[in-house]
Amino acid sequence: MAAIETRLFINGKVRQFVEASDGRTFPLYSPATKEKVADVSEASEEDTNAAVAAAKAAFPAWSALSPSERGVPLRKLAQLIEENHDELARLDALSMGRPVSTFADPGRASAHFNHYAEAGYEALGTSSVNTPGFVNLTLRQPFGVVAAIIPWNGPLVFLPMKAAPALVAGNTIVLKSSEKAPLTCAKIATLVEKAGFPPGVFNIISGHGHISGNVLSHHMDVRALSFTGSGRTGRIIQQAAAKSNMKNVILELGGKSPSIIFPDAELDKAAKETMYSIQWNSGQVCMANSRIYVHESIAPRFIELCKKSLSTVVKGDPLDPKTTHGPQADKLQWESVQHYIEASKKLGQMVLGSEEQPDDSNGYFIEPTIFLGVPEDAKAMKEEIFGPVVHINTFSTEDEVVAKANDSEYGLYASVYTNDLSRALRMAKKLESGNVAINCTSPTGALDMPFGGYKSSGVGREGYTVSIDQYLETKTVLMKIDEETSL
Ligand code: NAD
Repeated sequence: MAAIETRLFINGKVRQFVEASDGRTFPLYSPATKEKVADVSEASEEDTNAAVAAAKAAFPAWSALSPSERGVPLRKLAQLIEENHDELARLDALSMGRPVSTFADPGRASAHFNHYAEAGYEALGTSSVNTPGFVNLTLRQPFGVVAAIIPWNGPLVFLPMKAAPALVAGNTIVLKSSEKAPLTCAKIATLVEKAGFPPGVFNIISGHGHISGNVLSHHMDVRALSFTGSGRTGRIIQQAAAKSNMKNVILELGGKSPSIIFPDAELDKAAKETMYSIQWNSGQVCMANSRIYVHESIAPRFIELCKKSLSTVVKGDPLDPKTTHGPQADKLQWESVQHYIEASKKLGQMVLGSEEQPDDSNGYFIEPTIFLGVPEDAKAMKEEIFGPVVHINTFSTEDEVVAKANDSEYGLYASVYTNDLSRALRMAKKLESGNVAINCTSPTGALDMPFGGYKSSGVGREGYTVSIDQYLETKTVLMKIDEETSL
């Protein structure tokens, strides 16, 4: 088995992998067994500054290359990621408990790097002759140093989504992984080195938000910062950007996604898919449909189908290929989810879940849990739980369900199950959400569609057709010309 890389990757081939400058590490424990997995380097302020300085020094030469030259190491990295699928699966299973049986992230990551390896020529400006006496242009140019700060629930989803478009657009990057799942990113750093990126172009550091994350978000040389994580941290980062250099900030934040089931829906399919949405990755998914509104006429049958669907889940060791339901990522997540479950037990009816007192002695596992009839204004209906816990309530009219679904500060993903086309599109127009899925639900997505949130679920969009744009400045060039012919 390969040794686990736990160090910081700063300035590529020049400094390569380094321990933290002050020697500090943080321990990482398996949430399934509670055994220590590794001691991971904690990037200090000095290390984070060194990573930004390396990225800044690498920028002029990297941005001067053609998009196809920049695409070469991206394509190589895609290939190396595919080749290391099993090791990457093992590392996320060990650090945050993701079952290896559900781990498709390397394929998705390599698809991203392959796509962007070819996409750099999409960075195009415009021209205009609409102003008499002028031929005007816009130039699209990279920002310089871009920082990426990512969460733990899918490191290999978020690393490529941010790094690949930023790099091919000509930026250099410092990516900070989450302290809860740093190992896959550190492994990717070993592949970045092999892929042939010039030193300093792609730096990967690990550590806590209040140290390295804080330095990045305040840094005067970081010109754009792409963040995926909680709304709480997103707000801190926005403030840091405002207090420092007004860096461009892209925020992909949390959700409290509703799924709406009309009487004419295919109930079996709706139950199966909505339950998968809330159970997959133990409910630790920004777009998981954590609220379900089912029409009162079909509620009893739908609820039975939901219970049946979740009964096939196999809970256990995430390294076991038969397991489909792993633990929560750590004690903090486990405690937070248990807190919501205990509160909902007092307010509604638990029709699936554990009646026993919360007990983490055998790992941070939580049974898939279904509540009915919890009041709409309860905290569990308003806040993101980030666990395998779904609240199902009923509705009688379309207007009522739209009002309930939209009565949330979040607006990331909503889904509607109905066979009535007009109703589906009416709902799509009315729902306040960055994504609306019809007759399907999360994690369904489309690589070429913009992904992001309304309201407090985020600022900006990510996806094949929009991401490069997020990493380019726009410069207007005004060219005055003499309209008189000279010969
Ligand atoms: P988090 O906000 O706690 O942490 C995310 C990252 O921010 C981590 O790398 C962390 O170290 C860093 N961080 C923490 N404090 C910081 C600070 N003061 N300054 C700078 N960086 C700081 O979120 P999490 O628990 O890792 O992830 C779960 C959250 O992410 C959920 O809310 C989930 O909905 C959201 N999420 C959103 C999307 C999306 O695409 N919209 C996708 C996945 C997860």
